[in-house]
Amino acid sequence: TTTDKNRLRIAIQKSGRLSDESQSLFKRCGMKINLADRRLLAHVANMPIDLMLVRSSDIPGLVMDGVCDLGIVGDNTLEEHALERELTNENSDYDKIMSLKFGACRLSIALPEETEYQGIQSLDGMRLATTYPRLLTRFGNDNNIKFEFCKLNGSVEVAPRVGLADGICDLVSTGTTLEANGLKEVEVIYQSKAALIQGSQPLSAEKQKTLNTLIPRIEGVLKAKESKYIMMHAPKDKLNEVVALMPGSETPTVLPLAERDDRVAIHMVSTETFFWETMEELKELGCNSILVMPIEKMMG
Ligand code: ATP
Repeated sequence: TTTDKNRLRIAIQKSGRLSDESQSLFKRCGMKINLADRRLLAHVANMPIDLMLVRSSDIPGLVMDGVCDLGIVGDNTLEEHALERELTNENSDYDKIMSLKFGACRLSIALPEETEYQGIQSLDGMRLATTYPRLLTRFGNDNNIKFEFCKLNGSVEVAPRVGLADGICDLVSTGTTLEANGLKEVEVIYQSKAALIQGSQPLSAEKQKTLNTLIPRIEGVLKAKESKYIMMHAPKDKLNEVVALMPGSETPTVLPLAERDDRVAIHMVSTETFFWETMEELKELGCNSILVMPIEKMMG
């Protein structure tokens, strides 16, 4: 219908590692998402946007083919798909609008603990089980080594044990799964995060308008996630030292305290991670009542 044509369609993972964070990002952007009836398309009640809930591996193709205008997907899935399409001469164009701050993982080569590892060259000729043969092949070409691969879409980590492969090339975040399967990580070949991507087709004026509203909101949510609002009482004569300790902050607000002229209240926004170590140093300078509070939204 014509009304659908004006609704920005965004593909996100239906269920899995990226789905909760994708949805919560959009909710924080002000979207009221109607997920009640688990359909393929979830209507956003208060904005001209529909979310398409699909397998993560389908997202790059949906965006490249223009079925969806935008998508949230891991760099790993995106780049594997783009390389695959290049090989088959299909359209592999997209724009990466921005990297999001979740879904961090690395694509690594791992070998059974008992296999001796003597550097990249010793991987030459190995048979590796992987979901990412194109990224693995690219790594091989860059390093002048050849792999054989066995493509698996799940349970990659059991392949060496059952004799399917000499090792694996799989996504790792903590390394617990590798350890539980008697594998050791020997090479990191790719670092990945979730990304917001757009197809290369031009958007209608209505959709572009929606996108122009959405992007600053996403930026605002991402910025707010790392930022903290900090309040403390500080000795007036240590003001410069106190401010110098604050990471990524703008000019602080300094307020008088009732019945104290040796101390002041300081309020400031810190745009970087605020560590315990900094709080301890502030305390040593004579600050007290140090409060670090989350910020929900930011603009300007
Ligand atoms: P599909 O939705 O097609 O089933 P999938 O099987 O890859 O995709 P998940 O396991 O939920 O689904 O992974 C989705 C994405 O999450 C990965 O492509 C990757 O970008 C990211 N990710 C983050 N940490 C990890 C991890 N430890 N293991 C696997 N993926 C991770």
